[in-house]
Amino acid sequence: MEQKDYLIIGQGIAGTILSYQLYKLGTRFKVIDDPQFSRSSRIAAGLANPVVLKRQKWVKGAEHFTENLSRFYQEMEKDLKTNFFHPLPLYHLFQSIGEINDWQQNASKVHLQSYLGEIFQSEIPNVNSPFGYAKVENIFWVNTQAMISSWRQFLKEKGALIEESFEAKDYPDYIHIYCNGHLLSEQFPQFQSVFTKTKGQVMIIKSNALIPDYGLHSSVFTLPLGNQLYKVGSTYEHRKLNDETSPEGLSRLRSDLEKFYTGPYELVEHFAGVRPNIKDRQPLLGKIKDGNYCFNGLGSRGILMAPYLSEHFCKYLIYANELKPIWDLQRFN
Ligand SMILES: Cc1cc2nc3c(=O)[nH]c(=O)nc-3n(C[C@H](O)[C@H](O)[C@H](O)COP(=O)(O)OP(=O)(O)OC[C@H]3O[C@@H](n4cnc5c(N)ncnc54)[C@H](O)[C@@H]3O)c2cc1C
Repeated sequence: MEQKDYLIIGQGIAGTILSYQLYKLGTRFKVIDDPQFSRSSRIAAGLANPVVLKRQKWVKGAEHFTENLSRFYQEMEKDLKTNFFHPLPLYHLFQSIGEINDWQQNASKVHLQSYLGEIFQSEIPNVNSPFGYAKVENIFWVNTQAMISSWRQFLKEKGALIEESFEAKDYPDYIHIYCNGHLLSEQFPQFQSVFTKTKGQVMIIKSNALIPDYGLHSSVFTLPLGNQLYKVGSTYEHRKLNDETSPEGLSRLRSDLEKFYTGPYELVEHFAGVRPNIKDRQPLLGKIKDGNYCFNGLGSRGILMAPYLSEHFCKYLIYANELKPIWDLQRFN
């Protein structure tokens, strides 16, 4: 019997990276996406950071995710003849003397040593940082909007994109792979209790007083986008889980920014999205039922996790390799 083609449902970060991997493997697939359902991937800051900076903790399993990570995005850029990978000098602002001591100790630990860099006491113009700051090394960000759009264009040219809302009954001749982010539990209610979806809001500001050569991390981050524009985020909210911005979200972003940034700025845009977080903070991969799989649960770190996980998932899907049990959705059965 002939193997059915794959149909990837959703073209956020998950659907983009997974379909790119399938393409590289020469596998037959199509992607169906209607962007109106979720903005999460397109508004994300796109930072690839394996360290929880507030706690100076290594993200569990991140040693897998960081291997070949920047090379992956750079190769994808080359294939698509576009530019979305941006190395980023990032400074973490200390909140206390204790935090500096922790940084000094943690900086020699395995994994963290490649990321926790030099400590500085000099002043940053228009930034209130009485305890100084430290450089986070080896960080980059991906312009997710640019990556997703250029891959979308590529899929269109290959006739591999269906731009409409997905209805399972319309596609009986495909193996369905759900990359629909937090909306998975609407299709399959058994996953409702597995998600701890988290809404996030970000704003774009214009400022001529922030330094465009690096990002800052404190209660929120500032990410330089060029032309005096900066992305500032993000909030973490567990109510009103939709893509609508709120005045409360905006005032939270403003007050968090103004805790350390003392210069003028102008609000340019404001966005919201819902992160597909899973309650044990691990991804959600595997077989839902015959002919139905999911590649999901990328949470707050889709850019960091998607390349390695998609390779792992393809080996499972195509070559019947085992899934790592901590990522396999069967752990919730
Ligand atoms: C404010 C904010 C900041 C973030 N910052 C970062 C960051 O700095 N670094 C990082 O790595 N991650 C970040 N994230 C998290 C990141 O955005 C998520 O990990 C990622 O978006 C998950 O991608 P996804 O493809 O699984 O889901 P989604 O982005 O939700 O994509 C799902 C896609 O499927 C489509 N879809 C759904 N249902 C259907 C249907 N029935 N028919 C057709 N199409 C459908 C949707 O419209 C969407 O296009 C951030 C998230 C937010 C909200």
